[in-house]
Amino acid sequence: MMEDLPRPVLTEGNAIVKIEMCGICGSDVTAYSGKNPTMRYPIHGLGHEGVGVIVEIGENEQGLKAGDRVALEPYVPDFTCHMCRVGRFNNCADIHVCGVHKDGMMTEYFSHPVRLLYKLPDELDFLRAALTEPLTIGLHGATRARVTAGDRVVVFGAGTIGLMASFACLSYGAEPILVDVVQERLDFARDQLGMPHVFNSRNGGVTEYLKEVTGGTMCQAMIDCTGAAPVLGNMHDYVWHGGRIALVGWPHGLVTVNQTRLMQKEIDVCPSRNSCGKFPEAIRLLQEDRLPIKKLITKTIRLEETEATIRDMMEHPGDYLKVVIQI
Ligand SMILES: [Zn+2]
Repeated sequence: MMEDLPRPVLTEGNAIVKIEMCGICGSDVTAYSGKNPTMRYPIHGLGHEGVGVIVEIGENEQGLKAGDRVALEPYVPDFTCHMCRVGRFNNCADIHVCGVHKDGMMTEYFSHPVRLLYKLPDELDFLRAALTEPLTIGLHGATRARVTAGDRVVVFGAGTIGLMASFACLSYGAEPILVDVVQERLDFARDQLGMPHVFNSRNGGVTEYLKEVTGGTMCQAMIDCTGAAPVLGNMHDYVWHGGRIALVGWPHGLVTVNQTRLMQKEIDVCPSRNSCGKFPEAIRLLQEDRLPIKKLITKTIRLEETEATIRDMMEHPGDYLKVVIQI
């Protein structure tokens, strides 16, 4: 459903941004269907992957001005709680994520805190820039798993976020090993994106495969982008002693884990929420264009096509990676 809203009025600390493009996230699809447990209804509009042009802004420390092209970091913290004071804004106790806890960016004009705007380089077009936010999720996951050069990292889930996490691993000089149950996704990751290792776990065998690929040492790190119980229940097997595991995928209900084995191997399990301080890094990676990140864009649509597209994404999730709305 589309609705007419008044154009937002400029207020202290905020800017008015004319949104040019906004990606559709899997969480937008579950929010539309009422199956997203983090949603706080009612809000006006979904969307947290927006990029646009500043049309109104006051004096500000970043030197941003009207006409600047920007990416919008969508997690609005209170900037005052303990987590914010130590710089973990993504984990603010009173966070308001656009399109989740407050109005979303699938709209023409949007009021947003100036502190959460990042200037885009001239060479970076809006379409590629629309991948900034999902790329930050991958980068944050890899950071939570303390991925470093030379690591072998098993990444579960070859959807947009799993692929972004794999790109993050490549960017950090690590070797991603991508596991999924949908063969088309794995073929795409290998043939189109050049991912070095892919494995279909539909019939099990993940541990044996990882043993083979790693020469018996297993992985130094793991990034889960599925939240699937069979993955989390066996995660102690997939990393070596002292392994680090980042949990990025939203879990499907409560999951049983093998705490004994996690303790015996002193594995660090780190939940990963949103992203923190990763927008400049993601913008730089997209600008450099070394990794084929833009290949994740399945198609672009007009704002009027959003609802029909989300419905189709609900029915045929395997057909889509990233859809970007041109507003
Ligand atoms: Zn806070």
